[in-house]
Amino acid sequence: MIKKDSFTSCLSRQQVIEIDACTQCGECLKKCPVQDVTGDASVSPREKIRIFREFIKSTQGLKGMLFGRRRVNQELLEEFTKAIFECTTCGACGEVCPVGIYTQRLWPMLRREMVRRGLGPIGPQKLIPGFVKETGNVYDKPASERFSPWFPEGVEPVAKAKIAYYVGCTGAYEAHPMVRGDALVLAAAGEPFTMLGAEEEVCCGFPLFITGQFDLLEGLVKQLVSAYQDKGVETLICSCPCCVNMMAREWPLFLGKELPFRIRHMTQFASRALAEGTLKLKSGFNGKVIYHDPCYLSRGVGVIEEPREVLRAIPGLKLLEFDRNRRDSRCCGAGGAARKVFHENAVAIGRLAIDEAWEKNADRFILSCPACYSKVNEAMEGYEKQVRITDIMELLAGCL
Ligand code: SF4
Ligand code: SF4
Repeated sequence: MIKKDSFTSCLSRQQVIEIDACTQCGECLKKCPVQDVTGDASVSPREKIRIFREFIKSTQGLKGMLFGRRRVNQELLEEFTKAIFECTTCGACGEVCPVGIYTQRLWPMLRREMVRRGLGPIGPQKLIPGFVKETGNVYDKPASERFSPWFPEGVEPVAKAKIAYYVGCTGAYEAHPMVRGDALVLAAAGEPFTMLGAEEEVCCGFPLFITGQFDLLEGLVKQLVSAYQDKGVETLICSCPCCVNMMAREWPLFLGKELPFRIRHMTQFASRALAEGTLKLKSGFNGKVIYHDPCYLSRGVGVIEEPREVLRAIPGLKLLEFDRNRRDSRCCGAGGAARKVFHENAVAIGRLAIDEAWEKNADRFILSCPACYSKVNEAMEGYEKQVRITDIMELLAGCL
């Protein structure tokens, strides 16, 4: 039951305890990419929690009881809303938080509270529910173009199979080499796979969840789960780490029970197929590549070694690492549905990664997320330090 004047209605008990538990130690300040590029303390994880705690205290807590409930200053609410939506939800703050605040889950819930108060989301984020309702995707593109511009000729998904491939909106409309690579790798592994039709495969709900706009979520989740169940699916494979997170961690909440199939990222499928010998490489790659861990893949679902196993399996390839890697990786700037609203931040954050790839003389900057792919490509445009960007499956498909 959501109470109109409560600041905690959208939060679980665990999250209220987490907010209360923040010691303001500042460990998270060393890791926040948005604070790094803006220098703005109000966007820092510590400050957001401090301010939100004040909202709770002055309206519902002891302070409110002793001194009377006060209305929270509108200007402060608006400033907080901007700060909470400027976050890329990368989760790096939660990773180092000594009291274990699960920020990758907390921030969307605080956004939801701001949406409930009519303060969020921001700018084009408001259009997402309408687009999803009308076209099934977040980019307002025709469903008929979801697969047709990139799907490889000669690859034939079957009507029903144990394995299904979910493309996702960002891959389908903004990262064609990546999803084309996925389809080629799946086909080369030889096991039959199925897909939903272009009209049937709709948004997984992540952009709605992450912007705190929950209204359509239950319907979307039930529709997709039922469609894959009808196809006899046991493993659903995604190219996008955000889809993987949404499906694995959030879908069961909206479905009201465990999923009837498992969720895997494309790199998990490929590393296993390489290890089992069902995927065989005919050529290699002679050069140095640097691999960026997507926030929702490494910190989100702990898929860290599989992409590296795929890369190490490519003959001739030398794998370089970013200084911040694996669970400590720095966001590429694309996350949290902030990339289209706070474009300058996203480009500046992306360029921090480009700088490092360039300084380390990488021949290729390897990504395994369509949102990273799209944003780092934008960050590379017109930049003096050029490194060729390649998706991991695009690279692998080139060796088949
Ligand atoms: S690291 Fe955790 S406890 Fe410390 S200031 Fe940040 S959110 Fe609070
Ligand atoms: S999730 Fe990432 S961008 Fe957001 S506050 Fe934490 S470190 Fe900063």
